[in-house]
Amino acid sequence: MRDHKHVVAVVSEIKQVCGVQGGCTMENGEATLRQQIIALLRVRPWEAGGLARALGISQRQVESHLTHVRTSVEAHGERMVIGPAQCRDCGFAFAERTRTTKPSRCPQCKSEQLAPPVFAIQGRRSGTSA
Ligand SMILES: [Zn+2]
Repeated sequence: MRDHKHVVAVVSEIKQVCGVQGGCTMENGEATLRQQIIALLRVRPWEAGGLARALGISQRQVESHLTHVRTSVEAHGERMVIGPAQCRDCGFAFAERTRTTKPSRCPQCKSEQLAPPVFAIQGRRSGTSA
C-alpha cells in the first residue's frame, strides 16, 4: 500500500525532527506517540483505526490519546476537527455524537455498516484574514 509507506515516512520524519532539534519536551514514549498522531492528523483526516494501524497501537489507545491531542493542539491555536460517523447504507450522519468512539448501529435503518468518525487538525492560516 502506497499510503502506508507514506505514513511510515511521515512517522520516521517526525522522529528525526524530534531527535535533531531536541526541542520536544517529551520524556516517554507516550508523549512521542501524541506528537506522531498530531503530525499525521495535519497531513490528512484519519479514522481512529487507521491511526492505530499506522502507529502499531490499539484503537483504544488511539482514542484515549485523541482526547489529550485535542487539548494540546487547541493550546497551540489549532483545532481538532471530528468528522461525524456515517451510515454507509442510508447516509445518516451521527452529527450530535461527540465521543471519539464508533457507534455500532444506525438509528435510522439499523444498518451496522457504519463509517467511523474521522479526525483532522486545522491549523491557523495566516494570509486568509477577512
Ligand atoms: Zn442507516
